[in-house]
Amino acid sequence: MIAEVIVDVAAHPIDRPFDYAVPEKFQALTEPGMRVKVPFGNRKVLGFITAIKETSEFDPKRLKPIHELMDVVPVLNGEMLELAQWMKRQTVCFEIDALQVMVPAALRAKYEKRFVLNVPIEELPKELHPYFGTRDFVRAQEAEAVYGLMKKEMDKGTVLADTNIQQKTGVKKVRMVHITDSIEDIENISIRANAKQQLKLQEFFLKHVGQSFESSRLQKQADVSLPTVNALAEKGLATFSSMESYRDPSLLTAIEEKIALDLTDEQQMAFDAIQSSLNTEKTFLLHGITGSGKTEIYLQTIAQVIEEGKEAIMLVPEISLTPQMTIRFKERFGDSVAVLHSGLSAGEKYDEWRKIQRAEVKVVVGARSAIFAPFQNLGLIILDEEHESSYKQDDSPRYHARDVAIWRSQQHQCPVILGSATPSLESYARAKKGVYELLALKNRAKNQPLPEVHIVDMREELRTGNRSMFSVELAEAIRERLARKEQVVLFLNKRGYSSFVLCRDCGTVLQCPNCDISLTYHRASERMKCHYCGYDEPVPTSCPECESDHIRFFGTGTQKVEEELAKLVPDARVLRMDVDTTRNKGAHEKILSAFGEGKADILLGTQMIAKGLDFPNITLVGVLSADTTLHLPDFRAAEKTYQLLTQVSGRAGRDILPGEVYVQTYTPEHYAITLAKDQLYEPFYEQEMAMRRASGYPPYYYVVNIQFTHEDLMTVSGYAEQMTEYLRHRLSPKTIIIGPSASLIARVNNRYRYQCLIKYKNEPKLAEVLQQLIKIYRSDWIKTGATLSIDMNPTAVM
Ligand code: ADP
Ligand code: ZN
Ligand code: ZN
Repeated sequence: MIAEVIVDVAAHPIDRPFDYAVPEKFQALTEPGMRVKVPFGNRKVLGFITAIKETSEFDPKRLKPIHELMDVVPVLNGEMLELAQWMKRQTVCFEIDALQVMVPAALRAKYEKRFVLNVPIEELPKELHPYFGTRDFVRAQEAEAVYGLMKKEMDKGTVLADTNIQQKTGVKKVRMVHITDSIEDIENISIRANAKQQLKLQEFFLKHVGQSFESSRLQKQADVSLPTVNALAEKGLATFSSMESYRDPSLLTAIEEKIALDLTDEQQMAFDAIQSSLNTEKTFLLHGITGSGKTEIYLQTIAQVIEEGKEAIMLVPEISLTPQMTIRFKERFGDSVAVLHSGLSAGEKYDEWRKIQRAEVKVVVGARSAIFAPFQNLGLIILDEEHESSYKQDDSPRYHARDVAIWRSQQHQCPVILGSATPSLESYARAKKGVYELLALKNRAKNQPLPEVHIVDMREELRTGNRSMFSVELAEAIRERLARKEQVVLFLNKRGYSSFVLCRDCGTVLQCPNCDISLTYHRASERMKCHYCGYDEPVPTSCPECESDHIRFFGTGTQKVEEELAKLVPDARVLRMDVDTTRNKGAHEKILSAFGEGKADILLGTQMIAKGLDFPNITLVGVLSADTTLHLPDFRAAEKTYQLLTQVSGRAGRDILPGEVYVQTYTPEHYAITLAKDQLYEPFYEQEMAMRRASGYPPYYYVVNIQFTHEDLMTVSGYAEQMTEYLRHRLSPKTIIIGPSASLIARVNNRYRYQCLIKYKNEPKLAEVLQQLIKIYRSDWIKTGATLSIDMNPTAVM
């Protein structure tokens, strides 16, 4: 018996299976889709068995034997092995990367596999008894001699294969630090003048009198270490306690079952269309304005699929995977639904995955990678918010969940539903051409009117002398809501405090020494940081170029808004949600539920608040700077701006109270902004398509982005030049090749970056040419330390 194995050797990128002999003792168990340890060179490496055969073109006596079986049942089924090959062709990746991405993270780490008794030991053959002894399990490695017998028992169901993953059970606790609420105590404490850290923390305490922090966050924010915190606590300035770090998942089990709502006429039409195609491979584009009841349609079609004895995958962007969303699914499907959200540990995720593999659940709700859920009898795949760029993985394998969904729907002969209020241009164009079937929901389910959107021209504000980031109108509207005890959401499209530091005398902007990008000022730690390589340095007091001390912060971040807000409405309770406040597991949930429970008046945040927020008391949404996404050097800038504005506006007035939205902008006449005002998707689509046609971008052209990086500028530009030449000679004359040119961020982490863009309509030789290019890279360029990455259909070209 011979196994074809794809080995995992990153530094030695050989992308074809190797033949290995399967030793006698492993033969009963060995199957494709299992992972093995095999000798490779003078090491042992991990590999996936992709096929079993009886003969090899190599001399069987010289084949090396498999060293160990890492699994006793396959982790990947036949469909997944085939999918890996398809992904390899489709995304131009290594097959091993495609295989690894489908395996749950917990199984990529160290674990122990076991055989577990499923019946009293007496029912097993005598030969097996000593292996179990008095326990009900045996480690697989200790039972290698009886794999054949075990296999027979597993087939009968008397023995189960199990994986023992080290899990931290119970609820994780975090240490909290409570700062005293006595300013006097903090001020009057005696600290030695040379205890700089303690002085720094004292300073921090003064700014946060009476507040509580997670210990690790406090250390980070104040930029001190634990002994410093302990020292001040000993002096009586703080106390400690411990707190659950995230919600007890058992809360979710107490959910009451809910029955389906009566569909509106529009919903019914969409539902009927899908229902009549449940056993065909077909892709629907469900285009419904925010709040039109798309989710209700998903729930009811899934119920239908379960009724027919099949399974469903529901994908949502990670940031929409809120407790509210989870509850809606649990209410309908109870224990038949597995939810793969980021709050789960790797072990918990693996438990959910195992339920899927054993068909113990019928529905899985999860982010991008849930598309690999190993259901055997798929009846439906749904991608909610299908336009979201997070459906594309941004490192290898650079797959798009939408493409994988459609591939799987062909395997299983089942429909795919792509849902969105703002479909991607690609999907809408396909729907118009009839490749997808378009289903439209034009009204909100509860007939609430769309919120009234006001566009505020910030240039006018400047002219009338208002230099604050709140226009007079928005400020007035906020005060009004506060007086009426309604809630406000403020949206800022950015992270950090001030984006950069500029010298007013000579114009110098502080740059990262490793990357060609400006450093970002982080207020909490009082440091300048690079968002690309992590470099940081102290905030300068004078310009490093001209030594002027007119050096200032520019730009706006959530922390700065928070401060201005405190001046504007000093009594308002403000919650901030951005990358800094949601770094800890479960923090995102905590902030949202606190807001939902009315513990704050204003929620201030970045991108992550744009979705999923469904609270009846929100009646005002303010977009502080609509232009930030508009001016990105990216062909999707207008599309992203339109999507964002629509999503954010959709947060207001979702229930009985009517909603109002203020969009502040310096370019109030831009079509992405004026058309988002009334959710006029169709005119936006037409206008944006005209732009794409004129500039030759998707959906009119397909795009491939190829990037080289190297430490040496001349080397990388030389390679990029050679590559571009190579492509020009081999691709058809109609194909457009742009570049090579330095990437927008031309250097990251001291590596120079060059890229070239291929734009094509029809290029049958593309896959072959790219494979050749990779061969040249692997046999030549890689040796000097260059990296090459190929991104098919990139979500952005920056
Ligand atoms: P979408 O996913 O399109 O944003 P949802 O499915 O979340 O819309 O629906 C928006 C709101 O309308 C939710 O509160 C939902 O419970 C309610 N809803 C949806 N369909 C119906 C219906 N047929 N009858 C009554 N309420 C509905
Ligand atoms: Zn200067
Ligand atoms: Zn850097």
